[in-house]
Amino acid sequence: MAAGVSLALWYAGLSTLLQNAFVLTPRNGQLKQPTFWIGVLLIVTSSLAVAISVGRFGGRRAFTFLGGGFLGLAALSLFASWFFGIDILFTPIALAAFMSATTMQVKRLRDQDQELTEHLIVSLSKLDSRKANDAEHRLLSGLKLLENVLSPTEAVVFRRDGLGKLVSSARLRVSGGSDTGRNSAWREGVSLCERAMAAGELIVEKIESPDSSTNIALPLRHENRTVGALLLRVTQDFGDDDRTLLTAVGGQMARNLQREEAHNLTDHQSSLDFFSAKASQHRLQSLYVLNGALLEQSVGVNALSEIGDGVALAYLDGRIAYANASLLALANLTQDQTRDISFFDLLNSFRTDVFDEPAIAVRRVLQTSEAYERELHFADRNETYGLRISLVEGDSRRASNLEVTRQGDAPQPLCLALVIRDLTLIKEYDQLKSDMISLMSHELRTPLTSINGFAELLTQDETLPEQAREFVTIIANESQRLSRMINTFLAVTKLQRKDRQEVLKIPLRLDEVVRETVASMQPVAKKRRIRLVELPTQGLPPVAADKSMISQAVKNLVSNAIKYSPERTTVTVSTALEAEAVRLSVEDRGYGIPAEVRDRVWEKFYRVVREGEDKDEESTGLGLSFVREVVEQHGGTVDLNSEVGRGSKFSFTLPRL
Ligand code: ADP
Repeated sequence: MAAGVSLALWYAGLSTLLQNAFVLTPRNGQLKQPTFWIGVLLIVTSSLAVAISVGRFGGRRAFTFLGGGFLGLAALSLFASWFFGIDILFTPIALAAFMSATTMQVKRLRDQDQELTEHLIVSLSKLDSRKANDAEHRLLSGLKLLENVLSPTEAVVFRRDGLGKLVSSARLRVSGGSDTGRNSAWREGVSLCERAMAAGELIVEKIESPDSSTNIALPLRHENRTVGALLLRVTQDFGDDDRTLLTAVGGQMARNLQREEAHNLTDHQSSLDFFSAKASQHRLQSLYVLNGALLEQSVGVNALSEIGDGVALAYLDGRIAYANASLLALANLTQDQTRDISFFDLLNSFRTDVFDEPAIAVRRVLQTSEAYERELHFADRNETYGLRISLVEGDSRRASNLEVTRQGDAPQPLCLALVIRDLTLIKEYDQLKSDMISLMSHELRTPLTSINGFAELLTQDETLPEQAREFVTIIANESQRLSRMINTFLAVTKLQRKDRQEVLKIPLRLDEVVRETVASMQPVAKKRRIRLVELPTQGLPPVAADKSMISQAVKNLVSNAIKYSPERTTVTVSTALEAEAVRLSVEDRGYGIPAEVRDRVWEKFYRVVREGEDKDEESTGLGLSFVREVVEQHGGTVDLNSEVGRGSKFSFTLPRL
């Protein structure tokens, strides 16, 4: 285009005047003009050369050789005209080159500007992605917070509209509140806000009204710019403490208002944006919003100072990004010292025999992205800490730029995290628990066995009076019950501590287990006048399981079904084949279990309290927790359907072989 314009000027003879300045009257007096096509060639080639060099090297770098070329060409023009009487078309060429360079430079600037805008819009849309009307929602939420803490009768957030007038952006009116709805009161509020915004400070003004309320106007400032105002009307006293509170909330509201403003100027991009002051204004607004968002993003890290565990974050170059007070105390460091040390130095202060090579641990975490966990015991202080080093990964869509977004959403490693948790107390409780268990399994069982043994001996003694024999029988039965309870408790506890692999699994046919259990439970069922039936499925595949454990679990379910059903009802034990598992169900027409405790019946010691039900002597609340523990150890799941007054269906699955 530049070449075309310049050619036209030349051809029309409009550049002749200027041209004459760069040619000398030749010695032979005759100045030869090049032909039209040579002119086209010269002008087009030079424009293209200039455009390419500016495009390639940028305006500033190209300027040096373009300047040199200009001077050289001027000299050449004078020389050629003086000696050879040839006009080399210096002015049209220079004009074309100048226009070409300018156009190219403007194009480059515009491209970059467009890219910048595009990035800004993408970054902004990431902020707003969660909700279309996020900004308004945030403003209202801020007002609700004020409603809770200051109970104003009215709260309004104002912003300036296109004409510079204050308009309401969000409003909260408490029913039965003030009369700000009236025009005069509204105008009063607006003018108070105007004054507060002009003064740049909070203004409190008592108003003459029967409920002696106070108007408060707070300018909302973000990035040193007043973006709006908050008007509150309260009936209670407004003290200095409340000022601090309001200023704090006001800061957040200003950010929200800024967000709304930016949201309203949505992105109708055009290629002329580069020349538009309004478009630049939009971009500036977007930057304000992004700065506000940056501040909000620091919420997460700063909250870490409030937690009891020691937490440190390190950039992937080993610098420490953050360490909370608990961690500094544990590592015996001050905040200033963390600036000079690396993540490895920090880890070194937790070195023990189980954690003697921090570098290897970090390397493994970086290689595998899997957390590294160790329990550190410091014998000198008698303290135990849980150490965890992990790689924190960010959502690539949020953390990165456009390019990465296009590549896909693979998580992007952000930083390394170190968490140190004090386990000393937990360890003490653990110790207490195992002491308890060993007390139960040895110390309690031994005297119980002898009480039971001697009581049984005495029941055989014919010489004892009738009543004494009755008492001794009670002692014998009760001591047996106690030892059964201890055994169940120990069985559950032992199962919980066991590694899953330790359960001895051999092929087992569940229908056989059902047959045996039903047969062994028939006498108990008969005693309670309950019909106990089995409903086996033919051709069931075997499961891999420990027979005695599974039999005990089924027995617990059947005995519960009998125990918690009224007389003359039926208990059905059935098996069924599912996709990858075999299911065993025990169904009764008994009392049922209320929905709200349905999950809790599987807990240790949990018992359902039913009105009018006798306190069952044999009940320990351990039976179902044993069932669940056994089933889960085998890789299965438990399930319960129940309706109060109608009955229950307890079932479990075991993976088929
Ligand atoms: P226990 O029977 O020794 O009390 P469980 O762990 O076996 O302990 O059962 C926990 C609670 O679940 C019991 O207190 C009982 O009220 C309730 N429950 C268990 N099975 C049934 C059932 N089939 N029908 C109604 N309630 C049941």
